[in-house]
Amino acid sequence: MELKIDLELEKKEIIKRYRKLLKAAKPFLKDKDAKLIKKAFQLSADAHKDMRRKSGEPYIYHPLEVAQICVEEIGLGTTSIIAALLHDVVEDTDIELSEIERDFGKKVATIIDGLTKISGVVLADPNNSMQAENFRKILLTLSDDVRVILIKIADRLHNMRTLESMPRSKQLKIASETSYIYAPLAHRLGLYAIKSELEDLYLKYTDRETYDEIADKIKATKAARDKFIKDFIAPLNKTLTEEGLNFVLKGRPKSIHSIYTKIKKQNIPFEKIYDLFAIRIILEDVPVEQEKAACWKVYSIVTDYYKPSPERLRDWISTPRANGYESLHTTVMSSVGQWVEVQIRTRKMDDIAEKGYAAHWKYKESAPVAKNNAKISSESHLESWLNKVRDMLERQDTSAIEFVDEFRSNLFSDEVFAFTPKGDLKVLPAGATALDFAFEIHSNLGASCIGAKINGKLQPISYKLQNGDQVEVATSKKQTPSEDWLRFVVSSKAKTRIREYLNDDKRSMMKKGREIVDKKIMQMLSIPTDDNILNELRALFNYKSSTDFLYSVGKEYIKPAELKQYKIVYNKKVGSKHHIKDDKSFAKAMKQIQGEDAKDILLIGEDLDKIDYQLAVCCNPISGDDVFGYVTVNDGIRIHRTSCKNAKELLSQHGNRVLKAKWASVARDSFLVDLTTTGIDRVGLVNDVTRVISSELKVNMHSISLKADKGIFYGNFTVLVHDTTHLNMLIDKLREIDGVEEVLRYENHSEL
Ligand code: MN
Repeated sequence: MELKIDLELEKKEIIKRYRKLLKAAKPFLKDKDAKLIKKAFQLSADAHKDMRRKSGEPYIYHPLEVAQICVEEIGLGTTSIIAALLHDVVEDTDIELSEIERDFGKKVATIIDGLTKISGVVLADPNNSMQAENFRKILLTLSDDVRVILIKIADRLHNMRTLESMPRSKQLKIASETSYIYAPLAHRLGLYAIKSELEDLYLKYTDRETYDEIADKIKATKAARDKFIKDFIAPLNKTLTEEGLNFVLKGRPKSIHSIYTKIKKQNIPFEKIYDLFAIRIILEDVPVEQEKAACWKVYSIVTDYYKPSPERLRDWISTPRANGYESLHTTVMSSVGQWVEVQIRTRKMDDIAEKGYAAHWKYKESAPVAKNNAKISSESHLESWLNKVRDMLERQDTSAIEFVDEFRSNLFSDEVFAFTPKGDLKVLPAGATALDFAFEIHSNLGASCIGAKINGKLQPISYKLQNGDQVEVATSKKQTPSEDWLRFVVSSKAKTRIREYLNDDKRSMMKKGREIVDKKIMQMLSIPTDDNILNELRALFNYKSSTDFLYSVGKEYIKPAELKQYKIVYNKKVGSKHHIKDDKSFAKAMKQIQGEDAKDILLIGEDLDKIDYQLAVCCNPISGDDVFGYVTVNDGIRIHRTSCKNAKELLSQHGNRVLKAKWASVARDSFLVDLTTTGIDRVGLVNDVTRVISSELKVNMHSISLKADKGIFYGNFTVLVHDTTHLNMLIDKLREIDGVEEVLRYENHSEL
């Protein structure tokens, strides 16, 4: 059956809708604005004249509606109306961007260009890096003009409102994309009403049954709710009027989506949700400087009648949210035993809460002048968020998927606010740490942060900020950002800066590492470093890639002195080997190891942090023991005693990996030593032994186990000593104790 379309009637309808738009825009139209809007409308109507939407309606309805949303629901002005009217023209018709620029100016053209670029992007699968990259591009337009995003949201809202006529697959795709990015974006820009509607529509098209069920229940309970609200507000109404306040009282149910989330999250039935609605008190005609006082006055009246729940007081007037939201929320107990949320705000605050970003500009002129640093005006909050977004976009070194993830987590996050020592307020995403705070103030401050005094008490950089914390960042010139930091910072700024630093650092450290290697190899072997040598070095130090190896050298995780180990590998390669076949050659090798002749000797204990060594568990060497170093495959150098039962094998099988080593003269460490004692058991023996160890010699006892069997006493002690002299003194003292027969250093450790 063919559908008859009455073109004349349609034309009239188009004109009617256009007039409606003009009427809504009228209050702020200046000079030639109306003329320009008319021109844009005509151009758009003409360009789209043969096009229809999926619903069969004339296409021009769509740009008209989008423009209407821009005016009425977002509060945008002439430039945006024109851009909204023309937003699909360049993409869908023959009209060129240059024509738009000629007729409407550069600003409009830039916005439309941005909108055209976005329109092709579908972000149904956020894990697809192509789509993520596209999304990043979308947001790049945000850094040019945030109106692109606002108009895009209006466009998306109208598409969601008219999703019914779309095929099912498209419905799902558009709806999920909306919930994934556009609803959070609307939220972040303070467009609460639009955000709720987008979420409701998402639910409607993805879970129709649940949506209808909740919608029906809201409808069914309306009469009872209205009665409740009426009773609840009656005394408030009376008192507020008596106080001479000009106000509007509203009781509105929450959005279907938020009820749905509650049902799902808290697993409670619809009937059990007590905060199905909130009461809102909007104060009219409040002078800017009295806003806060007026809201608290209302709060005091409300709580005169109903007892408030102290933990559910939210003061977003003293500290507005980052998207500019200001309101005073309290949850009070009604006379019928039901909690009710009451939102108190001025008309201006309500406007900003409903229309978000754009409403700020309307009130900009009358914005409060900050009396002190702690009070930040709403605009600067939003400004600072937009700055952060710009900042994030300008850095190229994050992957697109990472970027979208971070961007979204920033969209969703609630805030935590903290103060500088001077009382400046900083708003950060919830979960932000002292380090995030440092980066928020300045990149250099973040990069050199070693901790922070939180309310006067020193805390680590990973300290999670609490609302109201006063933060004094502590820095050190020696500090440098590390990979580790990325595990606990939450703000995009900190993340990007740290990554940036690590990348820069990596490049310059690799370069430095290469220089060190070149120099050292030349010194040692008088040959230039080639790829072959580099690869052998990499293998020797057990790195997966030579870039990682060079980085570690540059960072001095591998000390220049350690590169000497390569000489052994090299010498082996060119044929100089020493084999140990018998006890005689072992003794000779041992003597060489203990000799003083070589300058290439490993000094253990000096600059402990320079050399990656461990004391072997098989022989448990302590300072003063005769030792040698053995280059292991995975764990750096291991120090063994020359008397170690494994020494022979190591020297004979892997002689090329043995290093001469001795203890540095100044021992800075303590060593654990196991002692075994046997003796004749008698009363007070244990007491004497422990007295000698702890009191007389002030040796720390780490563990002790004792047993007596048939008059014989066996004791095992683990003690902490400085070196062999210290140990020998202890052993001598113990041997002097009456009854003690033998004291031995226990050596036969098995590998752990
Ligand atoms: Mn559109």
